[in-house]
Amino acid sequence: MLVTELADVRYLTGFTGSNAALLLRNGRAVMFTDGRYTTQAEAEVEGAKVVIAEKSAVAAACALAVEQGVTRCGFDAANTTVAGLEAMRAALPAKLRKGWFVATTGLVAGLREVKDEIEQDRMREAAALGCRLFDQVLEHIVPGATEMEVALALEYMARLEGAERMSFETIVAGGERSALPHGRATTAKLPKRGFVTLDFGVVLEGYCSDMTRTVHMGAARRGGAAGVGEREVYEAVLEAQEAGVRAVRAGTTAGAVDEAARSVLRTAGLDEFFTHSTGHGVGVEIHEGPRLAKEQTQVLKAGMIVTIEPGVYLPGRFGVRIEDTVLVTATGCEVLTPTTKAWMEL
Ligand code: ZN
Ligand code: ZN
Repeated sequence: MLVTELADVRYLTGFTGSNAALLLRNGRAVMFTDGRYTTQAEAEVEGAKVVIAEKSAVAAACALAVEQGVTRCGFDAANTTVAGLEAMRAALPAKLRKGWFVATTGLVAGLREVKDEIEQDRMREAAALGCRLFDQVLEHIVPGATEMEVALALEYMARLEGAERMSFETIVAGGERSALPHGRATTAKLPKRGFVTLDFGVVLEGYCSDMTRTVHMGAARRGGAAGVGEREVYEAVLEAQEAGVRAVRAGTTAGAVDEAARSVLRTAGLDEFFTHSTGHGVGVEIHEGPRLAKEQTQVLKAGMIVTIEPGVYLPGRFGVRIEDTVLVTATGCEVLTPTTKAWMEL
């Protein structure tokens, strides 16, 4: 099998460089990279022999496999482009080009879903850092500050605390913009009165955190002609989120967790405004398996780390999302992001 997805290579070997091809054969692993990474690969890579390729790492990996008499080699169909596959084929002798590469999907991704104890500890630390940053950023959430200023304050503190980078582009969405499920921070100013949604994560030792809290500036607006009130929506999302967390345990299905959260919003008459899935796996990447979505039959296993993040988005008015990251256990789950979810007025 030829592993070319960098997140998979990092997961399997520890290598953090930007160019690598990992050849796995008969229990042996050889990782190919280039001359920029000679020292780094030596320091980082565990469990694989390192070869510095003169030209292309992938071509060198193919050449070794052919030399060793390999007749069929798996590649990652989910993460290889058409052009990438052509380049890989071009590295083979002409007579092997047809049928030598065999498409596989999700082999390493499947391994990554269940976290071992070292990974669990790293994710606990990343999540704990996220929680501390949330507490610290609250003082920056003031009327008139821009979403960008809040995001910048958060990211600056994250880097000072040792985060390698953010897990994804920080979401800070104030007022009407909170109705955008993925409202990246803009130069828009935070309102005197209205919701502010913060969704962010840090990467610590290669592992991502992910959490969302929605706070309110000033007093909640009651419902009325425009529809349901701000506080009612918040409490419904919170109840849905807590129902989702309670439904998590090894042996249940991803779809059952989604339904636990979704059904609360259905009862509240708000499910049509919950326009995404309930959660996703997190690890060396921000989005991994399993997907916690409608009718997903995948069974949760102890050691999986997933998010529970229902939301309600009322276009032109406001939105609320609340997200925790949890570790699946035999009897339930451990919440890695225990920051308060109670209604917060700033
Ligand atoms: Zn998130
Ligand atoms: Zn998430």
